[in-house]
Amino acid sequence: MNIILTAIVMWLAATMGLPANFEHPRIQFVAPAQMQAVLEHGRSTSETPGAAGESASAAPRNAGFDVVALYDDTRRTIYLARSWSVTSPADMSVLVHEMVHHLQNVAGLQYECAQAREEPAYIAQDKWLALFGKNLVDEFKLDALTVKLRTTCID
Ligand SMILES: [Zn+2]
Repeated sequence: MNIILTAIVMWLAATMGLPANFEHPRIQFVAPAQMQAVLEHGRSTSETPGAAGESASAAPRNAGFDVVALYDDTRRTIYLARSWSVTSPADMSVLVHEMVHHLQNVAGLQYECAQAREEPAYIAQDKWLALFGKNLVDEFKLDALTVKLRTTCID
């Protein structure tokens, strides 16, 4: 997994201009029910790829509630669903999304609001999917408006 994370960090640094950091997060595979519990307890947790903004959110919520990944700032841990697969571009894009949050966290990057922190994560995720001829709409039912809502600060 470390080699994959290193590759993602280098890609994010080159593509998104994020500060490279090779102190990788912990990766934990959890059952969907556990993911829900992590989500409800973690204040400093960021979701993927898209629940309603703010720092403790989860997604994607396609049909019903289905959290695929979370990042916990304090624990520096990415939680992935047990079903996550390295061979799936969509699953990898979810990891890319969470790695953006990790790099934001370790670099201490400040954002105007939690939604603003999501913006580069979604952009990176979409760029990653594009490498495989895929996109957020087809893979996660996240259209431009939905992404806009989730990445825009609300007063
Ligand atoms: Zn996120």
